Amino acid sequence: IYILGIESSCDDTAAAILHNGKILSNVVATQAVHKQYGGVVPELASRAHQQNIVPVIHQAITQANIVKKDINAIAFTRGPGLMGSLLVGTSFAKSLAMGLGIPLIDVNHMQAHILAHFIEEDAFEKPEFPFLALTISGGHTQIVKVSDYFQMEVIGETTDDAVGEAFDKSAKILGLPYPGGPLIDKYAQSGNPKAFKFPKPKVPELNFSFSGFKTAVLYFIQRETKNNPDFVKVNLEDICASIQYSIVGILMDKLKKAVKHTGINRIAIAGGVSANSGIRNALMEAEKKYGWKCYIPKFEYTTDNAAMIAIAGHYKYLEKDFADFSITAQARYKF
Ligand code: ATP
Ligand code: FE
Repeated sequence: IYILGIESSCDDTAAAILHNGKILSNVVATQAVHKQYGGVVPELASRAHQQNIVPVIHQAITQANIVKKDINAIAFTRGPGLMGSLLVGTSFAKSLAMGLGIPLIDVNHMQAHILAHFIEEDAFEKPEFPFLALTISGGHTQIVKVSDYFQMEVIGETTDDAVGEAFDKSAKILGLPYPGGPLIDKYAQSGNPKAFKFPKPKVPELNFSFSGFKTAVLYFIQRETKNNPDFVKVNLEDICASIQYSIVGILMDKLKKAVKHTGINRIAIAGGVSANSGIRNALMEAEKKYGWKCYIPKFEYTTDNAAMIAIAGHYKYLEKDFADFSITAQARYKF
């Protein structure tokens, strides 16, 4: 079975071809235009998607060494995401599927982040159901109980900012370019994680809150630079290590609570922030310390990609769960 996956929910235009769950091609066009604005500008994103979508899909098909008529179905991101961005992928997927006379499959972007763990990879073990997914990305922070491919229940989530935003906004306060998450990770490697302390938010149950964290970082930096204008420059590694240590601590506390609450100790991390070395190390430690079984994705499946859309499409194809051609994009799309 050949599935074409199309992803256009935010600022990356991506297309991938999977053959029986194995990747033949996985193309991502990252939009550089947003960097100068320090964040994603929706109108510019949808325009860039329009420019990128044809060449990106063409490249995915060429790299896979197949022709269009080999494709069995087209899977696309229906949501959640930016409406203008989603519309480009949705309209394109519909017209191409209609033109080729093949099934159309709608995919939830957040489910796809989790299902990336099911892409056929020799060196990676697939999670066993049921498991808990910690979905940490630029727009979401969720703990999801995954009972089957499409049987997922959100048992905890952020009440305000996402963890990716906490990284990116902290980075912005430190004067680092967007997206700053990977840079905090990089500088953290050579810093002391216990140099500075940030307060942990008190949020009930399995939910998260990160808006206060960002404010705490802002006040801390403002206070310190008043006495020492070079404070950030001199302490960048220690500040980044401390921010990362605090965020990872917040995530791990809730995960421990979720394991206790559900009795499930198989944990998969997903989404852009699952590329973070701090959370990866914390999970590997938890395997030894608490006997958890942890699943850590390959780096290329952490941030937005179309292979994850295609694998979700693959499993829906097996169930003949196809979309009607009247389907529309959904900016807020819960599952
Ligand atoms: P969503 O999936 O919620 O719609 P998104 O698709 O924009 O949001 P992703 O592409 O999954 O988000 O993730 C992007 C986020 O991941 C950004 O906030 C980025 O800073 C963060 N990120 C990527 N790598 C790292 C890293 N190594 N450490 C910390 N954060 C990281
Ligand atoms: Fe995403």
